[in-house]
Amino acid sequence: MRMVFIGPPGAGKGTQAALLIQRYGLVHLSTGDMLRAARDAQTEIGKLADRYMSAGQLVPDDIILAIVKERLAAADCRTGYLLDGFPRTLAQAEALDRMLAETGEPLDVVLELRVPDEELFRRLSGRGRSDDKPEVIRQRLVAYRQQTEPLLDYYQQRRLLKTIDGMGTVEEIFQRIQQVVDSLGDRAGRHRK
Ligand code: ADP
Repeated sequence: MRMVFIGPPGAGKGTQAALLIQRYGLVHLSTGDMLRAARDAQTEIGKLADRYMSAGQLVPDDIILAIVKERLAAADCRTGYLLDGFPRTLAQAEALDRMLAETGEPLDVVLELRVPDEELFRRLSGRGRSDDKPEVIRQRLVAYRQQTEPLLDYYQQRRLLKTIDGMGTVEEIFQRIQQVVDSLGDRAGRHRK
């Protein structure tokens, strides 16, 4: 199964992603994790990306697309994956569609985890990652609203979007996600592993 996971910073995507990949045997492709690994390894891409990440801004599309394209080509992705934190702009979504059209492996579902702003702020403030300072959090939420939210319409029009209420306990939210994924039609079922 090929899934995209969309949600604002602090929505709990990381926690739910870990459960999802285990339950459905997917490879977890988090562009945030890839960029942090590149930053920590001090590669050229990592150093460049860090300038954007530490300001709460999106890393330019060309950098992200190069990273994702290479990763998606790896053999482990053939059995299914969860894209987490990508695509984050319309240009990224369109580029992803082109990549997947080339290989004839379209997405099965796009999951949106929805959480109100006040709750996002509360959760992020207690987390302590280097880009979790209040002004950087604010900027990341702005980037989400301006650049990523338009993707919801994009995937809605393609009948791929499923919105999940992200309020409640980890278990409650995962139950909702499972219900949605398990009820996907035959198209997804054929790919299910
Ligand atoms: P969060 O969802 O909590 O903001 P992520 O780990 O997904 O955390 O991303 C952290 C940072 O990495 C983002 O603020 C952004 O700078 C960068 N980033 C991650 N994925 C992308 C992407 N697809 N496009 C542009 N920038 C990205």
